[in-house]
Amino acid sequence: MEKKIIALPRLDKLSPTMESTALKLMEETGELAQAIGKFRGLNGEKVDVDEKEVMNMITKELLDVAQTAVSMMFVLEENYGININQAVEKHIEKLVRKGYLSESR
Ligand SMILES: [Mg+2]
Repeated sequence: MEKKIIALPRLDKLSPTMESTALKLMEETGELAQAIGKFRGLNGEKVDVDEKEVMNMITKELLDVAQTAVSMMFVLEENYGININQAVEKHIEKLVRKGYLSESR
């Protein structure tokens, strides 16, 4: 199984909550959608940003989404006793069960 492993930090200068991370996740997914749509002209507006710059913006916003998701994982672990490693194992089992992944190991 090919994996993309990323390690993102716990933001120790913020005090995130379930609600603040959920709102931030929506904000960042909106920015990602804007980068994918608006800056590639999908909304009909004329675009004068070159493709490489757009792809860099998309990547930057995608990492903002990932960072916010990781921050929410820390909230779930620290405030609600969730074991993210166990949840990841169950997630991968689900992907296999649904036929998106050929094997779990
Ligand atoms: Mg952003």
